[in-house]
Amino acid sequence: MDCVDGVFTIFAASSMHAGVRARATAWMFVAVATLWATSTCTVVASPARNVLVLFSNSRLVPGNVEVDRGLRDAFRDAQPLPIHLFSEFLDSPEFGGEAHEQAVIAYLRAKYAGRAPDIMVAFSDASFEFLARHRGAPFPGVPLVYASVSPTVLQRYALPKDVVGVSVEYDFGGTIEQALRWHPNAQRLVIVTGTSSRDRGWEARLRREVPSLAGTRRVEFWAGLPTAALVQQLADLDAHTVVFTPGYYADGSGAMSSPGETIKHIARASAAPVYGPLDTFIGTGVVGGRMPSFEGIGRQAGRIVKQILAGEQTAAPATVAVAPIALHVDWRQVQRFGIKEADIPADAVIHYRAPTFWEQYRLVAIIATSLILLQAGLIAALLLERRRRQTAEVAAQKHRIELAHASRLAVAGELTASIAHEINQPLGAMQASADAADLLLQSDVECRSDLRRIVTRIRRDSVRASDVISRLRSLLARHAPERHPFDLGVAIDEVATMMSAEARRRSVALDVRIDSPLPPVAGDRTQIQQVLINLVLNAMDAVADLETDRRVVEIAVERLDGRIHVAVRDRGKGIAPQDVTKVFDSFYSTKSSGMGLGLSIARTIVEAHEGRIFAESAVDAGATFWFDLPVSPDAAVAQLSTS
Ligand code: ADP
Repeated sequence: MDCVDGVFTIFAASSMHAGVRARATAWMFVAVATLWATSTCTVVASPARNVLVLFSNSRLVPGNVEVDRGLRDAFRDAQPLPIHLFSEFLDSPEFGGEAHEQAVIAYLRAKYAGRAPDIMVAFSDASFEFLARHRGAPFPGVPLVYASVSPTVLQRYALPKDVVGVSVEYDFGGTIEQALRWHPNAQRLVIVTGTSSRDRGWEARLRREVPSLAGTRRVEFWAGLPTAALVQQLADLDAHTVVFTPGYYADGSGAMSSPGETIKHIARASAAPVYGPLDTFIGTGVVGGRMPSFEGIGRQAGRIVKQILAGEQTAAPATVAVAPIALHVDWRQVQRFGIKEADIPADAVIHYRAPTFWEQYRLVAIIATSLILLQAGLIAALLLERRRRQTAEVAAQKHRIELAHASRLAVAGELTASIAHEINQPLGAMQASADAADLLLQSDVECRSDLRRIVTRIRRDSVRASDVISRLRSLLARHAPERHPFDLGVAIDEVATMMSAEARRRSVALDVRIDSPLPPVAGDRTQIQQVLINLVLNAMDAVADLETDRRVVEIAVERLDGRIHVAVRDRGKGIAPQDVTKVFDSFYSTKSSGMGLGLSIARTIVEAHEGRIFAESAVDAGATFWFDLPVSPDAAVAQLSTS
């Protein structure tokens, strides 16, 4: 667009006399209109539909802003052409009168000469009445959509078919009734109104409606007070009063404003709860009221505009829409004036209520709770599992002890003959000694010293016999596994002694070589002895079929790398390579009377002592069974500190 530079003149409207002001406004409009008409502006028509909204008041009145938002929202996805929204303001009630209206018409005609609106929207009563009075004057034949116009105003005009829109009836009565329900102890109802013609219209309506609603309460109309005085009176109110106001455009001093602005002063100053019927009041300090939504009205009107532009809406009076009204409340005021939450209807729109933890974090809370429950479930399952395993381990341990004991009894059974022989020997010697002593006593020879030697021998033989029995008893005793440091060399020597009779019986030579001194190992002495007895018995079985001079079983004990190694070696028939590991399986036996438990018990015992056991063999080259045990930690520490 090529435009001539505009000339802007600022009128100090407030400092002028009203008549002068009206004339000045008219002249201003005419001047601007002339400028436009004679300007060299070239309008490049863009492919769009033009919608001109004429607002009754000034640009920044909160209701206007809301309606504008609703309209733009409705036009956002306009098809097939975009909608250009233009806004003009009548600045009522500050400006009015015939001259002003004529100036506005000239101004609109001139300004929109190149962008003639396809539809006009009149927002609220004053704007509608202006266009209804001057129908066709600014833009002949252009359809008119009204928004937020009261039914009383609509009834005054015989509306042609192409005038449709959204009417609104502010719910004064419903708001007052609701307020009195929430404040049953209120004895006084104060109604605040202003002095403009619209304010007076509201006052008249309220004077008609309120008496029947107030019941026994005293009703006071504070109409047309200067704002300063009003604010003071409101501050002196008590909690037994309820204030209702639709706001006002002009106060008693003639100062112009808008309901959205005046309510701020009223709500801030009042010591009593304030109610009102406009949704732009919410947030200023009012408790609430039954209110239409200005944004919603804008959206509703916008939809009608779109329908007309699309040719769907033929603009018949039957299509008049009524703006829905809902109860709105400010949660902060609800709390301030002690209104019970239970008394708030379920369909009320509650503003400024901080969402509860549940509302705010519902998803997070659900996920977190599920995770915690899942985790708790898992922990419980793991604890149960652990308990089951512990119980099973205790049972298995018990069975191992039982089995080891049974195995020892079986071994003792195998050694019975040798044990009997071992006990018999000292017993026989004792018998012989006793016989010798008897003979000596029968003779008359002085034999005190011989008798003393014989008694000493008897005592030694009895100790030998009792040693055999105590060794046997300790081997056969049923006891829980112990863990004490002991000398493995001594324990093995004891086994060798115990088995020497059996070895002699089988004509087997026991070759025992023990490194000494040996550091102690920690564990159950009897169990380790049992392991060695098993290995020696197996080795003696393995050499049983050999020539007597080859029936040798070697036991070697040595210390290597912090461990004590024990080897039991024979020159017997050996083990086939594929069976070398199998021999440690339970119930594996190649003997006709074998149980196949000796080696499996031996492995369990050695591994429980943190040791290892294995076999080496080649067929017909004999077998060697190894096992090792760690040196007792106490002994290792002791040795470190002394070295
Ligand atoms: P059992 O002696 O009752 O058979 P063991 O578990 O003590 O049970 O031994 C399992 C098997 O291992 C024996 O039956 C034998 O076949 C084999 N075995 C054990 N020691 C030797 C050995 N020194 N020489 C050859 N085979 C052996």
